[in-house]
Amino acid sequence: MAATKLKIRKKDNVMVMSGRDKGKTGEILKVIPADMRVVVAKVNMIAKHRKPRGSEPGGIQHMEAPIAASKVMLMCPKCEKPARIRLERLPDGKLSRACRRCGEVIL
Ligand SMILES: [Zn+2]
Repeated sequence: MAATKLKIRKKDNVMVMSGRDKGKTGEILKVIPADMRVVVAKVNMIAKHRKPRGSEPGGIQHMEAPIAASKVMLMCPKCEKPARIRLERLPDGKLSRACRRCGEVIL
């Protein structure tokens, strides 16, 4: 079964469109295509309680939990707004992403 191609890639700057962190922007840290989920820096932070183990001290560790890829939109660097993306196939066969609003190609 082929998963729908995600338009989001690692290191993209995205905006969260719904949920607790709506309106926040951040960098994509990780893409999980199998789950159609992404991890965005400083978005959907969860506290993980850890018990001390061996030489490691216990305490609360904050980390990002994955959110649904459908909840984020790629930011267009030109519009400085979340952009609807059009996929274009380049002559060399590679896919490029372009902002539907201004046509800016987002690599
Ligand atoms: Zn744009």
